[in-house]
Amino acid sequence: MSNTVERIKCLIIGSGPAGYTAAIYAARADMKPVMYTGMQMGGQLTTTTEVDNFPGYPNGTDGTAMMEDLKNQAERFGTDVRFGMITKVDFSTEVGGIHKVVVDEATEIEANTIIISTGATAKYLGLESEQRLIGGGVSACATCDGFFYKGQDVVVVGAGDTAAEEATYLANICSKVTMLVRKDHMRASKAMQHRVNKTQNIEVLFNTEIDEVLGDNVVEGVRAVNNQTGDKHDIAVTGVFIAIGHTPNTQLFKGVLDMDDTGYLITKGKSTKTNVPGVFAAGDVQDKEYRQAVTAAGTGCMAALDAERYLGALE
Ligand SMILES: Cc1cc2nc3c(=O)[nH]c(=O)nc-3n(C[C@H](O)[C@H](O)[C@H](O)COP(=O)(O)OP(=O)(O)OC[C@H]3O[C@@H](n4cnc5c(N)ncnc54)[C@H](O)[C@@H]3O)c2cc1C
Repeated sequence: MSNTVERIKCLIIGSGPAGYTAAIYAARADMKPVMYTGMQMGGQLTTTTEVDNFPGYPNGTDGTAMMEDLKNQAERFGTDVRFGMITKVDFSTEVGGIHKVVVDEATEIEANTIIISTGATAKYLGLESEQRLIGGGVSACATCDGFFYKGQDVVVVGAGDTAAEEATYLANICSKVTMLVRKDHMRASKAMQHRVNKTQNIEVLFNTEIDEVLGDNVVEGVRAVNNQTGDKHDIAVTGVFIAIGHTPNTQLFKGVLDMDDTGYLITKGKSTKTNVPGVFAAGDVQDKEYRQAVTAAGTGCMAALDAERYLGALE
């Protein structure tokens, strides 16, 4: 058995829209990319049945089917897609240095360039009824799913800028938006609070949490509880938007790559370059602003082009 460590030109970590788009571009540039998919092959979109806003699908598509299309396209140009987790990284800080990673705590691989597209994970409340109804009326993305609730009543859970933004976005589409805020005040900026307060069809309930999401297969309402008095009441809604934040999947890179105070990777200017030469970041892992499949794909393309230019400059 050979002990030789595999050396590749381009390693892509993560198999969401950013990773697969990077793979398509890197493979077509003859960088012979190897992708490790992680546990969630296809990324976040595999948790949704309806994707209506990705260009090129006039009738919308199923999230899992769409990610299978992206995988097939990446493989068509020779991407080596492998199931596995990157569990350790040892990046060289030299220009042209060799980066080392460990797969599944067992196999070491060396790479000239690395594209990180490990995404972000939406936070949920953790209630059984909420988890059961994800995709059946419970969502963590108003931009993605708001349209399906046109003319209907919905609830938004959260108190920060994202929650306020989601509530005002939904107020343009839905009949009524009820915001449930756990504390007696909102965390959102004054400007965002002002926008919420002046929007006629948003009602904010303070000191209020969800006790249970109601409905068997689809959301029919929520049972709200006042955390000061213990009083419960039902609110009839068809959509429940959880807007309590996301966790970027960057644990692996702590102390290695520059991150902001919420753990998102920092990229330089309009590029996908991290602070380490030859290591690039694309998709939700470096974007807490837009978090869409199409923007993730766009930065995936950029990362492959940045990696190709980096290698070209070394020759
Ligand atoms: C329920 C839901 C519905 C959505 N609907 C829409 C929609 O309709 N339209 C839209 O544009 N956007 C939608 N989004 C948002 C969209 O899914 C994300 O913006 C997009 O998937 C981000 O892509 P990404 O490639 O950055 O990462 P992700 O899709 O998050 O993929 C991350 C990948 O990294 C892998 N990974 C993580 N850690 C490791 C590791 N250590 N080693 C190897 N691999 C790793 C994971 O397995 C996964 O494959 C939705 C999101 C959710 C949750």
